[in-house]
Amino acid sequence: MTRIFCIGRNYAAHIEELDNERPTSPVVFMKPASALAPSGQALRFPKHGEMLHHETEVVLEIGKAGRVPHESEARDFISGLALGLDLTLRDVQSALKAKGLPWEKAKAFDQSAPLGPITPLSGDHDLAHLTFTCHVNGALRQTGNTALMLFSIPRILVELSQIWALAPGDLIYTGTPKGVGPLVPGDTIALSGPQLADASWTVE
Ligand code: ZN
Repeated sequence: MTRIFCIGRNYAAHIEELDNERPTSPVVFMKPASALAPSGQALRFPKHGEMLHHETEVVLEIGKAGRVPHESEARDFISGLALGLDLTLRDVQSALKAKGLPWEKAKAFDQSAPLGPITPLSGDHDLAHLTFTCHVNGALRQTGNTALMLFSIPRILVELSQIWALAPGDLIYTGTPKGVGPLVPGDTIALSGPQLADASWTVE
């Protein structure tokens, strides 16, 4: 069983760029396992939308089952870290949001969750200060630092696990910093971070 949880609106500057409201608890949505695409896999541009946005996110791999009782114990539930993309058809999402409809068509389509190689969590990883970048065709589009999250990684795990008891293999996309932008066929997206594995994809 692979469940993919995604946190929305978790960085203040990204909320502002999309003119969204600041949440008082984490915004959560899910993607199916068919949304995964390993680094190097060609990404098909979806046929049902026109504005495909990259959202670069730190992804948590869960290694322990259960509910996280307190933020101080959250780290024990994480087995690995990766960089990934929450690909979003922004035009489709805007239309759905305007009607108050669910977001799946905009965010849960095939290959909408490209996932880089997972690095096992080590004592060197400071979850509150993980930095990462996204380059498209060599140009810097996004820089992120988990220090800027509205809901920290431990807080996400506590809140999420009160609703869904965690299971080994669960993946959690933790939200994107500012700088989201459009992708077109032929683009190459490269993600990297000093303590996380590099990943890249090309849009077909
Ligand atoms: Zn996202």
